[in-house]
Amino acid sequence: MTDLYRLLPEEMEQLVMDMGYPRYRADQILLPLYYKFPKDISEIKQLPKMMREELIAAGYTIGSAKEIHRVVSDDGDTTKLLLKLTNDNSVETVLMQYDPSKIGGHPRSTICVSTQIGCAMGCVFCATGQMGFEANLKAEHIVSQVIHFAEILQQRGEHVTNLVFMGMGEPLANYDEMIRAVKILTHDRGFGLGQRHITISTIGIKSGIEKLAEENLQIGLAISLHAPNNELRKKLVPTASPNSVEDIIESGRNYFKRTGRRVTFEYALMAGINDSPKIALELADLLKGNGSHVNLIPINPTAGDFSRPTEDSIRKFEQILSNAGVNCTIRIEKGTEISAACGQLRTDLIG
Ligand code: SAH
Ligand code: SF4
Repeated sequence: MTDLYRLLPEEMEQLVMDMGYPRYRADQILLPLYYKFPKDISEIKQLPKMMREELIAAGYTIGSAKEIHRVVSDDGDTTKLLLKLTNDNSVETVLMQYDPSKIGGHPRSTICVSTQIGCAMGCVFCATGQMGFEANLKAEHIVSQVIHFAEILQQRGEHVTNLVFMGMGEPLANYDEMIRAVKILTHDRGFGLGQRHITISTIGIKSGIEKLAEENLQIGLAISLHAPNNELRKKLVPTASPNSVEDIIESGRNYFKRTGRRVTFEYALMAGINDSPKIALELADLLKGNGSHVNLIPINPTAGDFSRPTEDSIRKFEQILSNAGVNCTIRIEKGTEISAACGQLRTDLIG
């Protein structure tokens, strides 16, 4: 079985031509796929009935990810979906909406997609990391997460504006499927989202960052640093050894050189662990003059023993970075009460 959401527009053309149909039939599949969100090939009425039947008989399908549960936060700004995949795995995906009166500018509807079920990196503060690795998602499963929300938003006269790869899993550890999904989602005959509206977040895998830099894409990169030195970082990210802090900074710099896109460093702040003024100074020294941006994320509660620093220490940490000329923001977190915030995703409903 092959899900039609797996195919790049060029591959869709090849498929219809191999079936003996004219090239334009590909657009009669692609347009409904990305604008009408059919649940089944039989719903693509633009195609002749015979062609639909031939596609089905040849093993093509739609809908390898079905919604089985939906939770909405009290303010209605955050929605979390649990999707069931054909292989019986399930995966979580989150929509975050930002009120334009609070952020300035246009309304934003950002989807946070997952790339794996669980994660092998084992970060001690992350619920997904504590689940361990279960499986890689296929490109069609990643694309489907966006499609589900695109449909929900369309019903309200809204649309997807941004996409962040910050759900479950390490995107660069599932590189081929992740990049296929990015290409489909940004293709002008696919979902058509602007490359600049996508951010990939990685724990910092040097080889993956280098590969991504060579793709000639305008997507944003966020690197989860969490510590300014290798000793502390290894305690928080037990699998960090092959990629030192220095390596990661270097690959971030190369990414910027190659793509012109500035890299963001994410830093989950944990009370008594990585939030002292001394560590802030060390981080400032490491990053200053680099043009990079730091996103401070006061840790979200998970099953682990970590807690958020006080408001006061968060501000102090920020001040030290800003005083050193390091551009820095404190991230507005959404969805904590429905366990939809960073690092809280795991598939609780399984079983
Ligand atoms: N694996 C990738 C992307 C998914 S995690 C990565 O690590 O970057 C997305 C972001 O959530 C990362 O910056 C991660 O460090 C952060 N995160 C994980 N657990 C968290 C928690 N409990 N509280 C706040 N942020 C967390
Ligand atoms: Fe994996 Fe990212 Fe969680 Fe670390 S923070 S365990 S890399 S998902």
